[in-house]
Amino acid sequence: MKKIFIEETPRMVGQVVELYGWVSSKREHKKVVFIDLRDRSGIVQIVGGEEFKNLSTEDVVYIKGLVKERPKNLVNPKIKTGSIEIEAQEIKILSKAKPIPIPVDDDGYQIDEDIRLKYRYLDLRRERLKTNLLLRYQFIKEIRHFMDEKGFLEIETPILTKATPEGARDFIVPSRLQKGKFYALPQSPQQYKQLLMVAGFEKYFQIARCFRDEDPRADRAYGEFTQLDIEKSFTTQEEIQSLIEELLVKVIKIVFPKKQILKIPFPKIPYYEAILKYKSDRPDIREKKDENILAFCWVVDFPAFEWKEQEKRWDATHHPFTAPKKEDLPFLEKGEYEKVRADQYDLVLNGFEVGGGSIRITDPNLQTKIFEIMGHTKKQVEEKFGHLLEAFSYGVPPHGGIALGLDRLLQVILNEKSVREVIAFPASSGGRTAVMDAPSSVDEEQLNELGIEIKKS
Ligand code: ASP
Repeated sequence: MKKIFIEETPRMVGQVVELYGWVSSKREHKKVVFIDLRDRSGIVQIVGGEEFKNLSTEDVVYIKGLVKERPKNLVNPKIKTGSIEIEAQEIKILSKAKPIPIPVDDDGYQIDEDIRLKYRYLDLRRERLKTNLLLRYQFIKEIRHFMDEKGFLEIETPILTKATPEGARDFIVPSRLQKGKFYALPQSPQQYKQLLMVAGFEKYFQIARCFRDEDPRADRAYGEFTQLDIEKSFTTQEEIQSLIEELLVKVIKIVFPKKQILKIPFPKIPYYEAILKYKSDRPDIREKKDENILAFCWVVDFPAFEWKEQEKRWDATHHPFTAPKKEDLPFLEKGEYEKVRADQYDLVLNGFEVGGGSIRITDPNLQTKIFEIMGHTKKQVEEKFGHLLEAFSYGVPPHGGIALGLDRLLQVILNEKSVREVIAFPASSGGRTAVMDAPSSVDEEQLNELGIEIKKS
């Protein structure tokens, strides 16, 4: 079954082609039947006769036919193959389709999202989502290419691991071999990427999946998301920022040529100025909202700590591995934590946070102190983060990094309402997975093996 794509047919006028695809629509005009045949690349009009009458929409078919130029007055400029049509010579039905539960020939926004997610494999047949996923693929491909050219190595880090705090709840996975013990899914590769710096890799990146058990929010996908995660040794805040600017400017120009970046270099706005001027630490700096304008900015000089009133303790604003600014260390000594700023930078696009990073702490004593300020006892620090502190005692390069949220970035660039529109199989905001409808119960036997008993109430 050698398959050509439908989009190639306009270049094949006068030739007999073999096509495979789905019947997207069917129109009968007396003895003549027109169908639109659809494959991944687009649709094309096929002209047939009696033998087309028992076709239903969404049937999968093989068609052999002659590519013919359409008369001038019948050219359809709205589709890529609008200058031709195909005169069928042979047709085979490869699979019959039942009537589908949701239409797939429109943008789909008006359909209940739970139904769209239940039938995501049909939902993804629609042009809009197909295009979104294609652009996502190209975006990530160009990112990899850029990072490679800059000398960064893509290195995978574990998914079954130990808690790495980023301010959300952990997903935990029970261990069968050590009953009563649990792995945590990483909220980010943060600790491993820092360990890679200790190991001497100097320039790391990863298209990384991160797991965070966060409360539902309408424009979020529950549970997991994808980051471009980066770490570099012997670096500065400015160097990381220029790397990201160069990356985004280049890649957006290739993949989204219609988009215009408002200001290059991206403006840097201190946290307090953002709060005063824009009443937000995610400022939208566009003067008028034009969907083709991408207004990136950096928010810098964040306070290192925030007071958690409920828990009556200080917490790291970003994550506990972020270095305080050198000039603010005296405040740390004096216990004036609210005055300490962090060597941290967030990337904001059109009012959405799309990334964040920092220069890291590499002094084990300072790292221990930060954990203690956050309310951990010495014993807890040793238990939870002893491995990192020990690693830092064997020669650690100064380092820093960043992570960009790729789902959010694509959502904003594509002007979609939710990240779920740029992910193939997102979980619903309420936490049910697409199509497979997890979480679900497991057998008694499996629970026994894990040494787990479910509380009834
Ligand atoms: N690990 C951080 C995050 O996931 C990013 C970083 O600091 O590099 O937000």
